[in-house]
Amino acid sequence: MSTRDRLRIAMQKSGRLTEPAQDLLTRCGLSFRQSRDKLFCFGEGEPVDLLLVRDDDIPGLIAQGVCDLGIVGRNVLSEFQLTAPPEQAELSELRTLGFGRCRLSIAVPQELNYQGPETLQGLSIATSYPGLVGDWLQRRQIQAKVITLAGSVEIAPRLGTADAICDLVQSGGTLVANQLRETDILLESEAVLAGPKQLPADERGDMLELLLKRLDGVIQVRE
Ligand code: ATP
Ligand code: ZN
Repeated sequence: MSTRDRLRIAMQKSGRLTEPAQDLLTRCGLSFRQSRDKLFCFGEGEPVDLLLVRDDDIPGLIAQGVCDLGIVGRNVLSEFQLTAPPEQAELSELRTLGFGRCRLSIAVPQELNYQGPETLQGLSIATSYPGLVGDWLQRRQIQAKVITLAGSVEIAPRLGTADAICDLVQSGGTLVANQLRETDILLESEAVLAGPKQLPADERGDMLELLLKRLDGVIQVRE
């Protein structure tokens, strides 16, 4: 663990979680001076700074101790917990934040005669979440080929690169547009505050406790 005396929070630099995360921190009474490269934002009132990164990097940054906390989708956090080396995967969900809601689901071509997960036996599934999909298949003792794609997962069946997909779904519009049908939900997701299982025992820990208290107030008011 480093010997920083300021708390450091990682959040998504640009994407779906950026605005609601920023809004939440503002409501917790935090304000930041935007630095020129916009990777690091210095906190003005409280000793809390921001690191703006790709959401996929957030769990790793916490695990390495580069950041103390992160605002990230449960989908990204869970995938990290399943795929990172065990000594790094010791992260937990400190709070659920109520935005960025979506689900990670299996979807199959409309014309496939889907009769439950066992239909996937021997088929291939394209996904950006190989850890979560592998775990789900293993629990059901289904042997399927997991094909890891970084993006555009939903077009894989039409391209003939996979028989089915597992991807994030919000309204389902993207699936319909790609002639896919949602069949199984693997994970209900929303943005969470992620942190190490072992919280810092110094001034950062005190600040973290204060932040959690304010967060609980803000979340309660909104509900
Ligand atoms: P980055 O450049 O940070 O890697 P990204 O493209 O991976 O960005 P976004 O598309 O902005 O990320 O999504 C961020 C998070 O928002 C997702 O990990 C998920 O938790 C949540 N989310 C909510 N609804 C959706 C959706 N319909 N599709 C994708 N992500 C969603
Ligand atoms: Zn990402």
